[in-house]
Amino acid sequence: MNNFEEKKNKALKVLSEHEDSKLLTHLNSCVHCGLCAESCMYYLTSNDERYIPAKKVDLVASIYQRYCTFTGKYFPFLGKARELDEAAAEEMTDLLYGACTLCGRCTKHCSIGVDIGFVIKKGRQMLTEMGYTPASLQSTVNAAINSGNNMSIPESELRDTLTWLEEDLRDEVNDPDASIPLNVPNADILYTLNPREPKFFPLSISAMAKIFYAAKESWSLSTQMYDVTNYAYFTSSKSEAVTIAERLYNETVNLNAKRCVLAECGHGSRAFRWEAPNYLQKQFPFETITSVELMAEYISKGRIKLDKSINKEVVTLHDPCNLVREGGVIEPQRYVLKNAASEFVEMTPHGIDNFCCGGGGGQLAMSEYNERRMKTAEIKAEQIRKTGAKVVVTPCHNCVDQLMQIDNKFKLGVQVKTLAEIVADAIILD
Ligand code: SF4
Ligand code: SF4
Repeated sequence: MNNFEEKKNKALKVLSEHEDSKLLTHLNSCVHCGLCAESCMYYLTSNDERYIPAKKVDLVASIYQRYCTFTGKYFPFLGKARELDEAAAEEMTDLLYGACTLCGRCTKHCSIGVDIGFVIKKGRQMLTEMGYTPASLQSTVNAAINSGNNMSIPESELRDTLTWLEEDLRDEVNDPDASIPLNVPNADILYTLNPREPKFFPLSISAMAKIFYAAKESWSLSTQMYDVTNYAYFTSSKSEAVTIAERLYNETVNLNAKRCVLAECGHGSRAFRWEAPNYLQKQFPFETITSVELMAEYISKGRIKLDKSINKEVVTLHDPCNLVREGGVIEPQRYVLKNAASEFVEMTPHGIDNFCCGGGGGQLAMSEYNERRMKTAEIKAEQIRKTGAKVVVTPCHNCVDQLMQIDNKFKLGVQVKTLAEIVADAIILD
């Protein structure tokens, strides 16, 4: 058996070895009404029919038909059965990795409820089994597996960054005892970070530390496992997703924290909160919530006090797909913003109907698709421009990165902030 045949057999197992009829249902249900086309920013910004979500489903379904149905096996020339050869694998890579952010907007708009994102993830899983995952994305997963965080930040570098952030915090709150606690057992909260924070955006760590200080919270960071991201969710590699999720689970249990609070990261919060109990096949003995919900809780319980007149500029909100449409956290960030900013305006559309920023699904890691990614961003740029806002808040570091690139490319003249940053700016300390 040649090398490609071996890879192909592994990929076909993904299609044939499923535990229930979910895959079958979603592969066979599309009625080709075309409604999903208008949901997808790849199609809307290019008019390229290959990018229509249903076509991406068809691609996976045609391979299923060829190898997993009676007609496809014995009469492959009938119907739409397709060989899984190198050309098909390359086309799948280009469309399922390179032209989809797994934003889930098409699924929401499908006339009959085809879970398009689920099928695309199955297609990605097949490609991962065949070794077709874009190397750029796989290297991010490898960094997390090998070093404990997706940017391979050495522990000494993290500690240095946190030490100077702690000194800054003490100056800011005028308290020599203010701290960024590390590896403290039995705290109420184990807080996580997106590695982009210590690497590029340390001020968002200070912002959250200031919020914890104001709320008089019992919290800790871990230097062993703090990475909230799980890029194996994007490559659909279950074994690697399990390895990454298990580390955060184990660290929360080891430190005996009551709550694991997920930093502002759309896919990371989805992967750990909603997928990890399935990956690990267990119920968690601690509560898992997002920092977005925690900030809303602090405000509603009076644990932090804000003066929204401090944030005078008009603010708009970008909804990260994995946190909002796919994760169900919709209102807390709006409640927070209404308390933290003088004027908050919504984008159109927004909430579960919002457009992806274009950076989801691992796109920011896959530089080979940069041009396509920034083309899709035309929609987000226009949405932002129409609000007239000067500040765009988004509770996701991945989206922050993409929105900053959008600001730069489309000359929007906006500031991009995390939710913690705008809250920290408005905090009134006792
Ligand atoms: S999940 Fe989003 S990016 Fe992917 S096909 Fe659907 S609408 Fe397009
Ligand atoms: S909206 Fe649903 S049924 Fe209609 S073409 Fe798209 S995937 Fe198929």
